[in-house]
Amino acid sequence: MKPIYMDNAATTPLREEALEAMVNAYREHYGNSSSVHRIGQAAREALERAREEFAACVGAKPEEVVFTGGGTESDNLAIRGAAMAARERGDHIVTCAAEHHAVLHCCRALEGEGFRVTYLPVDAEGIVDLERYRDALEERTVLVSIMLANNETGALQPIEEMSRIARERGILFHCDAVQAAGKMRLDVRELGADLLAFSGHKFYGPKGVGALYIRKGVEIVPIMQGGHHENGMRPGTVNVPAIVGMARALRLATEEVEETAARLGALREELASGIMERIDGVRRNGSAERSLPNVLNLSFEGAEGEALLLALDVAGVAVSTGSACTSGSLEPSHVLMAMGIPPRIAQCSLRFSLGRYNRAEEIDYVLDVLPGIVERIREVSSVGARPVAGSRVSKDGAR
Ligand SMILES: *Cc1c(COP(=O)(O)O)cnc(C)c1O
Repeated sequence: MKPIYMDNAATTPLREEALEAMVNAYREHYGNSSSVHRIGQAAREALERAREEFAACVGAKPEEVVFTGGGTESDNLAIRGAAMAARERGDHIVTCAAEHHAVLHCCRALEGEGFRVTYLPVDAEGIVDLERYRDALEERTVLVSIMLANNETGALQPIEEMSRIARERGILFHCDAVQAAGKMRLDVRELGADLLAFSGHKFYGPKGVGALYIRKGVEIVPIMQGGHHENGMRPGTVNVPAIVGMARALRLATEEVEETAARLGALREELASGIMERIDGVRRNGSAERSLPNVLNLSFEGAEGEALLLALDVAGVAVSTGSACTSGSLEPSHVLMAMGIPPRIAQCSLRFSLGRYNRAEEIDYVLDVLPGIVERIREVSSVGARPVAGSRVSKDGAR
């Protein structure tokens, strides 16, 4: 049987049209887009066409888009670049405890360099409280960084309100839109953020390429030194074929966004209600309404997430516990912990993230195999030592 891929929040398969555009660019536009000769200029033209295509998808001007090496780099460029540019004016950053590690670890590093950071809590649905947010902003706050959609739960933050509050106080606002782009309609003007991070491989484009929207007039400093590529914001020979593929993928995802969101939302609810009907002791982490349509995060009380993941993998279904970045580490998800979920339950969670290639039959298959898997793992967990935080169910136990 063909493996069933339900880990689209970790990464998505490359779509055929993007691959074709890339193969063509690798063949035709091999020149260095900074070279003066015609071969270089042809690559430059392909790059600028891709910039226009990308910008149009998010309501930005082409000159407001800087291409980077991925979502992590875009987040780092935005946060470090804005913090360093504002160093004279202040030393305080506001973010949220449920952010991606690309944001959290960058903020942690800045704490070691003299910045103070407030990590806002989230409610049981994973949403930041606007009152606490307002209260956290200080005289010396220079930057806010809040994600649009959470990668573990799909939770959507009220970015429009939050960016307006920051703007009223002259504070820059960065938004990690990596998980949201291509999954929901997105307009940089409506969101009102000064900076937004994107990553190609989350919307069926290639890996290792991303973008940062920098609103016209916003000043940040580059985090790498080198040539004048990307307006000096991101030095290094530009990866034109990957950018061409990413822009094509975003355009196609944007064209079909409502249709795909509606289809995946229906499949997700079928999966959620099917699991709840068939299995006891399941709780849903995050809400159906204030979340991306394709992400479902569930805790299976008494069954370790890692063991469930391994057993599902053997059954041909790829899912994730929390985020891919923390799998392998035995810490329970910081996102679920931030939502007030006890570690014992956070440890028992799985993330199903659907994508455009998932079909109804695949939901049916998961609903067929999952009850038996959960039952087996709960049995193994109840004989001998129950898995507690920091312990790992043995591979035998997972089978
Ligand atoms: C995947 C992801 C990132 C990191 O993007 P990469 O391109 O993998 O570096 C950052 N933030 C969020 C919310 C993500 O989902």
